[in-house]
Amino acid sequence: MPKIKNIREQFPYLNKNKKTIYFDNGATTLKPETVIKAESDYLTYIAANPHSVDYESAFEANEVLLKTRKLVKEFINADNEKEVIFTSGATESLNQVAFGIEDLISENDEILITNLEHSSELLPWVIVAKKKKAIIKEIPLNNDLSIDVDKLMKMINKKTKVVTFSTVSNTIGAWNDSQAIIKAIRKKNPKVIVAVDAAQSIGHIKTDVKNWDVDFLSFSAHKMYGPFGVGVLYGKEEYLEQLTPFKYGGGMSASINLKELSYEPEPIPARLEAGTPNISGIYAFAKAIEFINDLGIDKIHEYETGLKEYAKRAILTNELEKEFDFYNLENDSPIILFNAKGLNPQDIATYLANDYDIDVRSGAHCARLTDEVIKTKITIRASLAVYNTTKEIDTLVEALKNSDHFLD
Ligand code: PLP
Repeated sequence: MPKIKNIREQFPYLNKNKKTIYFDNGATTLKPETVIKAESDYLTYIAANPHSVDYESAFEANEVLLKTRKLVKEFINADNEKEVIFTSGATESLNQVAFGIEDLISENDEILITNLEHSSELLPWVIVAKKKKAIIKEIPLNNDLSIDVDKLMKMINKKTKVVTFSTVSNTIGAWNDSQAIIKAIRKKNPKVIVAVDAAQSIGHIKTDVKNWDVDFLSFSAHKMYGPFGVGVLYGKEEYLEQLTPFKYGGGMSASINLKELSYEPEPIPARLEAGTPNISGIYAFAKAIEFINDLGIDKIHEYETGLKEYAKRAILTNELEKEFDFYNLENDSPIILFNAKGLNPQDIATYLANDYDIDVRSGAHCARLTDEVIKTKITIRASLAVYNTTKEIDTLVEALKNSDHFLD
């Protein structure tokens, strides 16, 4: 990996705000110059709407779609480009999966999910289950709050239709070994549909849909150094072919019949990508993938694991646990979730921002059932990315240590 200084230099936000410590990467990562410039370049120089090849820029717009689709395919190790659907983000991808397969779900079918999921993963299944009179069951967790595979196996039966979970939750952040979990599920009931929410892992750890043998995978570009408004739904071809589109419109139909109230769909991926795509974002997304590929996702993971380990040691050495509750120091995801004992998390987040220029996030983090697991509804989340440093962690630890006057 290049020196951290060289990585940081690629991020205009960090260059402009030299003192700011950006620890809100779980919400969105910063964007490197190449990504920012690409979005602006597209709007300036290419400009065209794809779905036509009648003039040079329109042809180029189509090339952008093809090129980025190929990059994504390679990045997640999919079989072919058709399995990569562009969406507006993980939320749309997750909704497309749940509402897209609802016709395959019958009364009393079981949908298994963890209570650590983000609302964008949890809510679509709640709505679909209610509509179809299906049953949602919570997947039991280990002490470290990863999925308890043995207990999950005991829950899987002939009625299990869907198992869905995130590779890493956006609060606790315990890694779920997708490959091992899916392998175990397939052994018990090969017909189960497995949908994984990779929003929090995609920029941090290698994703391999083929090795994982996952049926659907959802993520957003903006959490992996890319632009807002672009996401991906990966699906195995056989499943994407069966998926009912979540939206209808231009580009997805070859003909429409008003008498029969029917239409002739285009093949995937077009059938699931109605309307004008966020093409300037998709152009910039390619640069985000190139940024990660240049560093190497395994190196990123190794570096961030080191940061988390460093943070854990600093927290324990400074005995911060006396004044603060830490909920996930034992796992190596780049998330530190904590609370000041007896204080409002928002007050702590404001103190960190005002006194130390440290950006963290307080609240429920859209994971509304997390309190069933850690017995508190709101927390403070410091989430790390590849440009963060041990020095920044020292400052966070220092700030928490010096919060005594504030805590009194
Ligand atoms: N899933 C998880 C685990 C997330 O952390 C998030 C966003 O925080 C989402 C889904 C939704 O992503 P987006 O808001 O980009 O659609």
